[in-house]
Amino acid sequence: MKSPLLTALLTLGISITYAQSTILHCGALIDGISNTARKKVSVIISGNKISEIKDGFVNGSPQDQIIDLSRQTVTPGWMDMHVHMVSEMSKSSYADEFTKNPADYAFQSVGYAERTLMAGFTTVRDLGSTDGVNISLRNAINKGLVKGPRVFTAGTPISATGGHGDPTNSFRKDLMGDPGTKQGVANSVDECRKAVRQAYKYGSDLIKVTATGGVLSPAKDGSAPQFTEEELKTIVETAKDYGFRVAAHAHGTEGIKRAIRAGVTSIEHGTYMDDQCISLAKKYGTWYVPTITAGRSVADSARIPGFFPAIVQPKAETIGPKIQGTFARAYKAGVRIAFGTDASVYAHGKNWIEFTYMVEAGMPPMEAIKSATIHAADLLGMKDKLGSITAGKLADIVAVDGDPLQDIQVTSKVSFVMKDGVVYKNVTGK
Ligand SMILES: [Zn+2]
Repeated sequence: MKSPLLTALLTLGISITYAQSTILHCGALIDGISNTARKKVSVIISGNKISEIKDGFVNGSPQDQIIDLSRQTVTPGWMDMHVHMVSEMSKSSYADEFTKNPADYAFQSVGYAERTLMAGFTTVRDLGSTDGVNISLRNAINKGLVKGPRVFTAGTPISATGGHGDPTNSFRKDLMGDPGTKQGVANSVDECRKAVRQAYKYGSDLIKVTATGGVLSPAKDGSAPQFTEEELKTIVETAKDYGFRVAAHAHGTEGIKRAIRAGVTSIEHGTYMDDQCISLAKKYGTWYVPTITAGRSVADSARIPGFFPAIVQPKAETIGPKIQGTFARAYKAGVRIAFGTDASVYAHGKNWIEFTYMVEAGMPPMEAIKSATIHAADLLGMKDKLGSITAGKLADIVAVDGDPLQDIQVTSKVSFVMKDGVVYKNVTGK
């Protein structure tokens, strides 16, 4: 005689045994953890999670769906730690502020999000837009209204008056107004605290602060510090109250040092990182998100006459080409590196180019892939759920035609994309 409890457990056991799973037959598997690829492996997905990894091609039960990736290399879904999902740079971008409504940004972001996902990037960290469209986009993707990657967004970046993220730089005086913390502009310890709380109220997932000048903002200086160390510390401390991590945009050495000492989680771009910055980053365990693609892309655009406003042109020429060299030094020195491209400065969906630049600068392909998987998940604080093909993790998986360890360019050939257990792309047969 079976007890009701045992009967219930057996029923549960049976339902688990016969529930439909998806089984990926992987020709090669880079799991995000080990340093070599495994050959002929089955990855079993139940619901939105990876349930098992088995040697050889297993067939499971008749109800299970088999996906043949035997000619592909399978990796965890890629994660770009620096994108701006709602915009894309063009010659006319500087006029957009006066011609585009938030709805225009929202509609264009739908296409950018889909392109990003189809390129194999199943997670992105969005580092800011001024009108909150990035937060709405994240919500729309989470609700299944829009196809796109998992988005962790900073919402509105925090900047000083006239700083890299001040949305009214270069406007006519009567249009400049005096943007405050609602637009992310903060100029004291109190305002910095308020700006973080405002970001929380808006629904951000993390904080972005522009610790130095930047290349593309229509302002003169691209590298000088724009916050005091005390202000940066306040941002980091307040962010902690909400469980937020802080990403610091920083090109110049002084701003990089202040941000690291203040305890930010990552330095973005880090162009003029010197040996002292590198030792500080190692001491504090600060992540470096290089965005080589953005640097090279703005340097290329700077060669097109009239592409940038006159105030931006010299910054694009000098800062842009330096990032790849900085990346090479930081990598050799052992700074923790997470993959990030600044997509929006170049076309969304071409994020894979960063892999090629990283490898060109001396990083082995396996390490480049880890920077976009397990290391990125670590930077986000999502290592328990994302970043590797391990039992129990969310089923974010991509496959490429060919072997990226032999030829990193094949990261442009994504033929399979699964996010959260759902297949968004499968063109392996074509
Ligand atoms: Zn950026």
